[in-house]
Parts: sequence; C-alpha cells; structure tokens
Amino acid sequence: MLCLTLTASTLAENKALVEKNRSWIGAAELRLDHLDEDELKVASAFPSTVDLPLILTYRRASDGGLCTKNEKDRLQTLYEAAKGGWAYVDIEEDVKKSDLKCKDPLFEGRVDLEESLRARNIRIIRSYHDFEGVPEDLFGRVNRLAGKGDIPKVAVTPQSLLDVIMLFQVEEQLAHIKEKIIIGMGQLGIPTRILYKRLGSMLSFVSDNQAAPGHLGPREMSEVYHADRIDRNTHIYGVIGNPVYHTSSPKIHNRGFEAIRYNAVYVPFLVDSVRSFFKLAELLKIRGFSVTIPHKQAVVPYLGKTSREVKQIGSCNTVVRIQGMWKGINTDYYGFLTPIQDRIASGSIKSALVVGSGGASRAIVYALINHGVKVTILNRTVERARKLGDETMSGYDSLENAHLYQGSVDLVVQTTSVGMGELEGTNPIPSFAFTGKEIAYELIYRPEETAFLQAAKRAGCEPVFGKEMLIEQGKLQFEAFCGYHFPHWIPLDL
Ligand code: NAP
Repeated sequence: MLCLTLTASTLAENKALVEKNRSWIGAAELRLDHLDEDELKVASAFPSTVDLPLILTYRRASDGGLCTKNEKDRLQTLYEAAKGGWAYVDIEEDVKKSDLKCKDPLFEGRVDLEESLRARNIRIIRSYHDFEGVPEDLFGRVNRLAGKGDIPKVAVTPQSLLDVIMLFQVEEQLAHIKEKIIIGMGQLGIPTRILYKRLGSMLSFVSDNQAAPGHLGPREMSEVYHADRIDRNTHIYGVIGNPVYHTSSPKIHNRGFEAIRYNAVYVPFLVDSVRSFFKLAELLKIRGFSVTIPHKQAVVPYLGKTSREVKQIGSCNTVVRIQGMWKGINTDYYGFLTPIQDRIASGSIKSALVVGSGGASRAIVYALINHGVKVTILNRTVERARKLGDETMSGYDSLENAHLYQGSVDLVVQTTSVGMGELEGTNPIPSFAFTGKEIAYELIYRPEETAFLQAAKRAGCEPVFGKEMLIEQGKLQFEAFCGYHFPHWIPLDL
C-alpha cells in the first residue's frame, strides 16, 4: 500500500491532506515532530477522525525529523499520543530500554511504552535510518530489527547503483520476513519506492511535499506508475539517464501499457554506471529500456545485437531483451523522420541546415543523408561539426556563419540545448533570417515554443515541435518493447 506521510502543523490540516489524497493511498503516517506544540496534546484523537490504518511517528532530528526534545520527553510525548487507535507506532532501533519507561497517572510506577503497545495489539515498526549510505550488513540488520516480532523498517541512502542492487536483493535474501519496510532514499532510490513490492516492502511512503528525500506524490505513484498493482508477473521497463527525472517518457509508456491492459511498468533509473545497470536489469528481469543523456553511446558495447542505424550512428536510445540477448535500436532516427517523411518523399525537402552536432544531431544527420537530403551542420564547437560532416559527407560551419545559408535550405533543424533551461528565450542562430519557406524543426520540447521557433513563425515558416518527435520516437519504443502498436486514442499532454 501507499502510505501518505503527514507533515502539516495541525491535525485538521493533516486530515484535509488525507481526504485530498484518499483515493490513492491505503495508509497514512502522522509525523508528530511537524505538529504545533498545542496539537501534540490532542494527537491521540487523530485516528478516530481518519478511516485508514495509521502509523504514529515522532522523528528525532538525527533521523531526519524535527524533534529536538531529549529522549525521555520525546518518548513520553509519543506514549501519550499512542493512546489513540493507531495501527502502528514507529520506534527507532537504538532507543534505550530505560527511555521507554513512561509516566502514566493511571498506573503506579512507570509503564513500558513497547509493552503497552503490544498489550493493545498496536504493531511496532522498528526503524533504522541512514542518510549517508547503505550499511554493509544490511541483511543482518533487517534480520535483527525483525527480532521480537516487530516490523523492521530500513530507510537508507544509496550512493551508487550497486547500493540500489543490494536493496533489490533484500527480498531474495529475507523472504522469510513477511512484513518489512525497505526504502532507498534520495534520487537513486526512486525505483525502490516505485517497485517497493519487488523489494518485499509492505508499503511505500509518498507525500505531497517531498517530506523525505525522493518521495513521489501519491497521485503520480498511483496514476502514472500503478505502484500498488505491481506484482510478480509485472514486466519491468524503464529509462536510464543522468539526470533522468525530468523525462516525460514514463507518462507515454505507462499510459500506453494501461490502455492496452498490459501488466507492465516503466520506471526512471538514475544511472551512474551503465555496467551496474545491466546487472540490475538482469536481477529485475527488465525487458527493455530507453536510454538518454549521457548513456546513448556507453550502452553500445553491452549489446549483443544492434540495428543498422545504431551501427551507423554509434548511439542507441532503445534496448530490448530478445532471445536472452540485449538488442539496441535508435528510435530517434525514425521518430525524427515521421513528421517530415512525406515532404522528403515528395522532394520538397532536398537540403537541410542542422544546428548542433551532439548525440541527437548524429541520428538526424544520418536520417537525412540516408534519405537523400543534402546537409550542412553548424555547431558552436566547429571541430565536432567537422568530424560529423566528414563522416557523413556533409558540409559544416560555425553557428556565427548561419546567415551564409539563409534562403538556400528547405529545412532547418535545431538540435542544441540552446532555448531550454537557463538558455530559455535564446536563439542559437540569431543571424539567420528565415525567408518563410523553410520548415523549422525544433528538438527541444520544453518549452514547447522556443525563441528559434518564434523567429521562424514570425517569418511565416511551418514549425515542427519537439513534442512531435518525442511522441513519435516514444511510440516506436513502445512497439519495440511490447510488440503492440501504441494506442492512438491516448491523449498525451506531456
Ligand atoms: P548533446 O549530445 O549534449 O549535444 C548538445 C548540443 O548542444 C551540442 O551541439 C552543443 O554544442 C550544443 N550546445 C550546448 N550548449 C550550447 C551553447 N550554450 N551554445 C551553443 N551550443 C550549445 O545533447 P543531445 O542528446 O544532442 O540533445 C540536444 C537537445 O535535443 C536536448 O535539448 C534534448 O532534450 C533534445 N532532444 C529531443 C528529442 C525529441 O524527441 N524531441 C530527442 C533527443 C534529444 P558543442 O558541441 O559546442 O558543445
């Protein structure tokens, strides 16, 4: 189940958060350390207002929480709040036995917090946090935490993909511990949150406000990834990159899988080492994955088979498992061609100016020359343009000389990253005056309309948006992954 972490400062706000997210969650965790002091006194009443299993947690600053009280006071407050109808109470693994002895006016002497919880059938979650890494004795630690019949919770911070692999091995090693919570925090840990069931974790935490590093929102976990529906038979696909979480491809593929009722999920993997990822892919029996910056060339040596265009371009954006072998194809090549192929076929595009000579440009230059279009490549680093030009028998020049080509080409393709992020609003070829007859093709898809496209539209040119290529190459990947056509009725508001 998905468990919503509640970090508002009042109980009323937390209740409202539960109601807002109710359709996506199966449990909630009230974090006492985020509540106002006055609210702490009445926190025990919270379970009577919410129709979900609830976890009660009072997190210390050293474990990523806000509580700065001494241990005795913290556990006394937890004891008072725990008097309500909670399903679980979280107690850190290193709490001293003596600090668990709490005062209660109804009893003489002191009452043991853990014993009082067990007497009321409230399960104890025994938690361990590591914000700096993953302990070498991870499996032994989970085993120890599970002693006394408590539910072990291990929230650790992978520093590399090898750490992520260790987390995915928990279920194989510790399948005998039926109830456990295993979490990889931070950016590298996001796949462990989405695929929590593959880790044997009984839940995955979510929040509206990134209450912990790497939290996804309940709606995204539920509607994009269907994390709760992932089971042993779910086929896993993904995208690898660094960075990777900005990519829209999970929306394309997961919506497609859902529409054709294919039991599959497409997960973003932040990848620091391609070699490690291939190990993880074997472990998770991943069936296929997209490849984005900076791994498009690095994956090629690991492929048992490559398509003709991958051999030519030397870069691969799609890998599929076929007959026990990894096969690489490049759907950027075909996805780029789709919006303009009729014009190439009819002869209205005979010449092109390609701005940029990075990875995407390579696929595009080859796609154009293979279809008989004469290409000139412009790039900031002229040496890179020269290399690609020599390889493909194309012309090359600097960005500053763009104006020399105005009026002489049918198509202008913008493949640099100039126009997005910090360079939003910048046109990489300001000296080039469009005549209005060129087709202006932009690869950037966010923002949808770049300064390059605006200049072209002002002159009356026909624009082709980056989103079109993104969707076309994504559809081709989808077919390569699962063998079905992408369902054309799906609205893709990326
Ligand atoms: P890449 O390999 O890193 O190449 C980046 C290109 O941008 C190089 O030509 C680089 O020139 C140029 N560049 C970067 N900063 C510049 C600056 N400040 N001034 C001038 N030129 C600059 O990246 P890529 O994989 O080719 O991707 C490029 C763009 O295409 C990205 O925006 C990506 O999102 C987009 N893309 C879109 C699709 C789609 O489906 N729509 C598919 C693939 C890629 P230097 O050689 O001088 O560094």
